[in-house]
Amino acid sequence: MPPTEAGPSPGAPSPARLIVDLGAIVANYRALAARAAPAATAAVVKADAYGLGAARVAPALARAGCASFFVAQLGEGVALRRALGPAPAIYVLNGLGSGEDGVFQANGLAPVLNDLGEIAAWSACARASGQRLAAILHFDTGMSRLGLGPAEASRLEAEPERVADLALDYVMSHLVVSEDADQPINAAQLAEFRARRAAWPLVRASLVNSSGIFLGPEYRFDLVRAGAALYGVNPLARRPNPQVGVVRLEAKILQIRAVDPPRSVGYGATFRVTRPTRIATVALGYADGFLRSLSNRGHAYCGDIRVPIVGRVSMDLLTLDVTPAPAARPGDWVELIGPHLPVDEVADAAGTNAYEVLVRLGPRPERVYVGDRAAP
Ligand SMILES: *Cc1c(COP(=O)(O)O)cnc(C)c1O
Repeated sequence: MPPTEAGPSPGAPSPARLIVDLGAIVANYRALAARAAPAATAAVVKADAYGLGAARVAPALARAGCASFFVAQLGEGVALRRALGPAPAIYVLNGLGSGEDGVFQANGLAPVLNDLGEIAAWSACARASGQRLAAILHFDTGMSRLGLGPAEASRLEAEPERVADLALDYVMSHLVVSEDADQPINAAQLAEFRARRAAWPLVRASLVNSSGIFLGPEYRFDLVRAGAALYGVNPLARRPNPQVGVVRLEAKILQIRAVDPPRSVGYGATFRVTRPTRIATVALGYADGFLRSLSNRGHAYCGDIRVPIVGRVSMDLLTLDVTPAPAARPGDWVELIGPHLPVDEVADAAGTNAYEVLVRLGPRPERVYVGDRAAP
C-alpha cells in the first residue's frame, strides 16, 4: 500500500515506531490452523490488517500456507490482490455495492452477498460474463448487521435458482459473543446456522472468527476466519491469552524535567505533582493514534520499570512520571505497547477493546517489520 502523506519521510528518523513481528503473526496463524484443522483457516486482514500493514502481513501469511483472505471494503481487496498476486481467494465482507461488479471481476475478488439484491446483481454479472462467479452467502443468525435475515433466507431456500449462476464457495454467519463460552447465544446461533445450512448441503460452511475457534469443533465447519488472534489479541474472555504478542509501540523521550509542587502537568492541569517529580515528555500523541482516553490511566515502560502516564495525552506528546526510573534519559525509547504492556491491558486502561487500540494507530509511527524469513 502506498505511504500516505502523514507517514514518515525518507531520511527523517521517526520518533515513534511500531515494530511488527511477522514471525509471531505466522506462529499465531499456525497455532490457530492446527487447532481448527481439519477446517481451513482464513486470515482476516481488513482495516490494513488491523493497522499493522496488510501489504506485509498478508504475503507472510500466504507463504505460511494461508489460501483465503477476508477484507471489509472493495478498495482493501484491490490493494490486497496487488500484494498477493492471483492465487489466494479474497472475499469482501461488506458485499457488492451498486456499480462495483466490474472492479470485483477485474481484480478476481469474491463478494460476501448480504441480501437478495446483491445476489441478483452478481448473478446478472455472471450471466453477462459467461462465468460462474465465486461468492459467499451470508446468513444473519443474530448480529442484525449484515447478511440475509430469516425471511430473505427462507425465500432463497424456496427459490434456489437465484444462485444457479454462481459458484458458492461458502455459506457463512458471524457470532455475537464468541469470546465468552458461557453465553447461551453461541449455541442458539450455532443451531440457527445449522438449520440454514441444511438447505445448502453441497456448499461448504464458515461460522467463526478467532474466538469462536475455541468454542469447540462443532463450531468450526469447513473454514474459520481469524483476525484479532493473528495479531496477538486475546481471543478468550477471563482466560490467559493463548496467542503470542506481535506488536511493540515505542516512542522517544524528548525532554526530562524536574517539576515541583504546586505545578501541574499538561493541558487542563489534570495532574498536579505532590512531591518533586521527574517528568519525561515523549513524542507520541493522539495524532499517532495513541488514545487520549489513556490520559492519567495508561502506563509505559522505561526498560523494565513501569511508569504512569500523567496529565493529558495531547496531539503530539504525552508525559510520564519517570521518578521511579532514574536512569531514563532524553533519546531513550519507551514502550507503550509490547511485551510488558499487552495490547489487551492497554485497551482495558483506555476503556475500549484491543481491536480499536490497534486499528487507531495511524500512519505516523514508522512501521518496522521483523521476523520475516523471506525478507532480504
Ligand atoms: C472481523 C471479522 C472476523 C474476524 O474477527 P476476529 O475477532 O478479529 O477474529 C471474522 N468474520 C467477520 C464477518 C468479521 O467481520
